[in-house]
Amino acid sequence: MPDPHIEELLRLDREHVWHPYGPMPGRQQPLVVESAAGVRLRVAGHGELVDGMSSWWSAIHGYNHPVLNEAARGQLDRMSHVMFGGLTHEPAVRLAQRLVEMSPAGLEHVFLADSGSVSVEVALKMCLQYWRSLGLPEKRRMLTWRGGYHGDTWQPMSVCDPEGGMHGLWAGVLPEQVFADAPPSAYEESYAEHLRQTVERHAHELAAVIVEPVVQGAGGMRFHSPAYLRVLREACDAHDVLLVFDEIATGFGRTGALFAAEHAALTPDVMCVGKALTGGYLTLAATLCTPRVAQGISRGEVPVLAHGPTFMGNPLAAAVACASIDLLLGQDWLAEVKRIEAGLREGLSAAREVPGVRDVRVLGAIGVVQLDHEVDIAAATRAAVAEGVWVRPFRDLVYTMPPYVTGDEDLARITRAVCAAAREG
Ligand SMILES: *Cc1c(COP(=O)(O)O)cnc(C)c1O
Repeated sequence: MPDPHIEELLRLDREHVWHPYGPMPGRQQPLVVESAAGVRLRVAGHGELVDGMSSWWSAIHGYNHPVLNEAARGQLDRMSHVMFGGLTHEPAVRLAQRLVEMSPAGLEHVFLADSGSVSVEVALKMCLQYWRSLGLPEKRRMLTWRGGYHGDTWQPMSVCDPEGGMHGLWAGVLPEQVFADAPPSAYEESYAEHLRQTVERHAHELAAVIVEPVVQGAGGMRFHSPAYLRVLREACDAHDVLLVFDEIATGFGRTGALFAAEHAALTPDVMCVGKALTGGYLTLAATLCTPRVAQGISRGEVPVLAHGPTFMGNPLAAAVACASIDLLLGQDWLAEVKRIEAGLREGLSAAREVPGVRDVRVLGAIGVVQLDHEVDIAAATRAAVAEGVWVRPFRDLVYTMPPYVTGDEDLARITRAVCAAAREG
């Protein structure tokens, strides 16, 4: 029986509401989520679905978590927001302190932004301004490798993959950045040499190299050898170029290290975090930098960083972020991520037998099945929902990054659903 209330919501949704990367009006009918708890979404007409997506990398502790709820409630009773210009407050200060302590050594200053894309904007602005302050305004381009994704606002779009990505439409309108080839998964000296040469050739005009370390997310869910990060670090140091790591997807344990930079045991000059920062509760991101970058900017003709979102340092989000970080660090998170990694490896191995599957790869709590064709999203979603699971494929990829609290049985259900989605999609 169609529920008239749900039918009306869907009609209004179709008429008025944009969805991510969607047309208006929408072509596919979304599912209506009524509530969520633990690793389950309660979906109108479908009962409970096990969440295989962590709401795009963010809900690492699952939904409706008592500790995070309590942190939000406690902060709500004190204040949900005050402006950050001329004012400060404990949640923001404590969050910055935690981020500095847990991130790679040397990152000491924190700019709190309101979304991942904005934190990338801020990171790029920091790099451009650093060189301008030092009297080298010609260093104003970015270098990245193909296959990346850094967000949907203007500068981030310019460093997303220029062809396979979502922003190819804007070639010729976006600032033209320098692109190296996409990184191979295993270490190849010839590719390392290609990176070194590309940095060297463009160093005079480069402000920074920006990459997603170890895992390229929304640009294609590809993994690469951490050794390439060391190659970039050395090339950047040798040729006076800053190095930015976008850890918005990889941060907070997802790859089996607290931050993916740790796989290469190095510190970037600037680092962006977001997504899992608040455990998926509220929108918040941060840009961290070294004293070298901050001091460079402060020595310039314009000694301030002209950026200050209205909701900068939002106390409610910052309080939940502190609680989420404490929850993460207060448990053996690595054991949980390794357990999920083992479960994904075992469960997804069956996908190798599915016709049309090109590759199956797992790293940390990330499992990817790549097809040899574009996924039929509607059919793949139906197949997963029939198994009681929520996943959201894109391009030629059916993938999962479950909450770290996902139990073994639910994990097995997720991998069965991913295989089913790959078969039907
Ligand atoms: C999601 C993502 C972003 C953009 O973050 P938003 O919060 O969606 O603006 C940037 N970089 C990476 C690597 C991401 O995964």
